[in-house]
Amino acid sequence: MYLKRIELAGFKSFADKTELEFVNGITAVVGPNGSGKSNISDGIRWVLGEQSAKSLRGGKMEDVIFAGSDARKAVNYSEVSLTLNNEDNTLPLEYNEVTVTRRVHRSGESEYLINKQPCRLKDITELFMDTGIGKEAYSIIGQGRIEEILSTRSEDRRGIFEEASGIVKYKMRKKEAQKKLDETEQNLLRIHDLIYELE
Ligand code: ATP
Repeated sequence: MYLKRIELAGFKSFADKTELEFVNGITAVVGPNGSGKSNISDGIRWVLGEQSAKSLRGGKMEDVIFAGSDARKAVNYSEVSLTLNNEDNTLPLEYNEVTVTRRVHRSGESEYLINKQPCRLKDITELFMDTGIGKEAYSIIGQGRIEEILSTRSEDRRGIFEEASGIVKYKMRKKEAQKKLDETEQNLLRIHDLIYELE
């Protein structure tokens, strides 16, 4: 699996629809300070479900929408699509290409899509779980992130190795199963109480 294309429209400094194709090998994006290089990686994290405006270097989520400049009016929505080559079926979908899209309007209304079909954020999170591509995964190393990783608690650092070894999905499922088990145990207790009262 590899990143094939990213399309940004109305996202941060990308007022017009902008398409970047990633070919085989290494791609370097160069440009003057403030020209929007980091906004590209912000766009990738955003489409993968980043919910923290702060980690996208903004104050509120609306800040990801192009706010206007001397030459251009602000726009009303922001959209980013990532297209991944999935010929090796890393993503558990029967498509050779998978496109994930996130769109947000100034009204706050938000949409997620997988191959143009509306979906939930949870579907996107689960799709990328254990692939190393999630919003918290190690595929995007931002400025200062290496120092942050080295200085964090060992438990947090362990999370990175867990994602790389592909066990996060199972840990999540175990947590969900444990929650259901606890709820069922509570229900059973309540039923026992009722039976006791009726007898
Ligand atoms: P550096 O080399 O200094 O790290 P960079 O090329 O990575 O810079 P970015 O940080 O990606 O640049 O882009 C910052 C630019 O994006 C700023 O000029 C900022 O005004 C612009 N920008 C960010 N959010 C918006 C927005 N919502 N609307 C319009 N412009 C925006």
